[in-house]
Amino acid sequence: MEKEFYNRMGSQEQVLLNRLSNYQEVYWSNGKLEKYQTGIEKCTLTWIDVDDAEKRLERFAPYIAKVFPETQNTGGIIESPLVKIPSMQQKMEQDLGQRISGDLWLKCDSHLPISGSIKARGGIYEVLKHAEKLALSQRLLTMDDDYSVLDSDQFRNFFSQYSIAVGSTGNLGLSIGIMSAKIGFNVTVHMSADAKQWKKDLLRLKGVTVVEYESDYSKAVEEGRRQAEADPSCHFIDDENSQDLFLGYATAALRLKNQLQELKITVDENHPLFVYLPCGVGGGPGGVAYGLKLLFKDNVHCFFAEPTHSPCMLLGMMTGLHDQISVQDIGLDNLTDADGLAVGRPSGFVGKIIEPFLSGIYTVSDERLYKLLKDLADSENIYLEPSALAGMNGPVWLAGEASDYLSRHGLSEKVSQGTHIVWATGGSMVPKEMMEKYYQKGVNS
Ligand SMILES: *Cc1c(COP(=O)(O)O)cnc(C)c1O
Repeated sequence: MEKEFYNRMGSQEQVLLNRLSNYQEVYWSNGKLEKYQTGIEKCTLTWIDVDDAEKRLERFAPYIAKVFPETQNTGGIIESPLVKIPSMQQKMEQDLGQRISGDLWLKCDSHLPISGSIKARGGIYEVLKHAEKLALSQRLLTMDDDYSVLDSDQFRNFFSQYSIAVGSTGNLGLSIGIMSAKIGFNVTVHMSADAKQWKKDLLRLKGVTVVEYESDYSKAVEEGRRQAEADPSCHFIDDENSQDLFLGYATAALRLKNQLQELKITVDENHPLFVYLPCGVGGGPGGVAYGLKLLFKDNVHCFFAEPTHSPCMLLGMMTGLHDQISVQDIGLDNLTDADGLAVGRPSGFVGKIIEPFLSGIYTVSDERLYKLLKDLADSENIYLEPSALAGMNGPVWLAGEASDYLSRHGLSEKVSQGTHIVWATGGSMVPKEMMEKYYQKGVNS
């Protein structure tokens, strides 16, 4: 372990770091959390940016509804259900031997149309934004047009002069690949070694070029970036630094606010909202958390969840080194079955933006992900991919070892009238045989 940063840390953090490097499950409370007003003053992005992204998605809605009929009942808006999971809550309380105060809900991004994961938010948004920019600049389109005109050979021919590239562990590749191919771009997905075969097969079937690497995600991104730089007509979607991806994810907050209103769920000073988000490189959970903070300010409390083998954001934020440190630097192997979360080095861009807004981060073992997968399937008949279960243990931490977070913020009593939302980030596209194997692993763990 690199001695310099280790020696600079407090003794509590050194203990945590030792546990992290032994693959233990830990909870880290963010000492840099600020009051919303103080935090937002430091922030370069604003509400105007999120609103601009939402308006763009609305302009594209008629096109999306036309080319992806599964989005017709939401008018071409790509959105997922929010469902209450009381039986799962009961199961978790039994295992914990203690009550979990407040209501437990699941935000089913696992069932987002088109690509079945949270990546259908950021990834699709960035592809559409790029397409709009090209079409507007060539005066083939105006912002007042009905964008369903994009579903034509004329536009597909136009977009085929341009290419899109991305590096991915799987799900981002699915979302960017499917969207880009549909609108007419030439698209290349650079896949890391851990990417599942079925995802590569599906992409190739849709006309996407898939390049495979024997190393991990960071390498796939690096290679993709390098190849794209050599081609001026290529747009590289940079998962580690993209503001557009981030803003696409952030629009989720607006939609969630409407869903909460429809369900008559109050969020205010006496009704806190707790949100638990699985974190890979950070853009997805970071964007969603940022959007939620803009809307609910100090009444929302956001936590990230990472695998014990890949706690990159925790490490980056705790040491203050952000993307200057990787999990390999503390001896971890970055090997996890949690697709999308097998990331060794966090986004520095996201870590810095989210620093004043994030309440804490905890880690979860792969065995626990499988057990939770099985429990959710048994109790609620909802099937998720392993990574999407990472958020589920959040309310357990808050009820136990992390409960001082509640007392410090005057929430110990209020939590009973609060709401917990576990962000289920993927799963509906997993092939049945694969899901059966996941479930069996849950039985055995
Ligand atoms: C990508 C992904 C995440 C995390 O998003 P990041 O932007 O990489 O932090 C979480 N869950 C699933 C299923 C994902 O595919």
